Amino acid sequence: MTMQLGKLCKYADSCPVYQNKIKNLGKPIYIIRNVFCNRGFKGWSNCERFNALEENRSVNQNSTPYKL
Ligand code: SF4
Repeated sequence: MTMQLGKLCKYADSCPVYQNKIKNLGKPIYIIRNVFCNRGFKGWSNCERFNALEENRSVNQNSTPYKL
């Protein structure tokens, strides 16, 4: 599968959510990636973690699209 440039969140490489390092996400990782990470700004802007990073608010290793 080729990755469409500009669609994948710029934080994906270092994101523990995208890298599937977080247990108990509540949904399968492929759903999370499709809904948030691989969806361009429309998806990213619904991610709490993305918004916090964009606004220089702090996140931790357990921060997800749903909660910081
Ligand atoms: S959209 Fe959110 S969960 Fe997905 S890679 Fe970006 S910061 Fe991580």
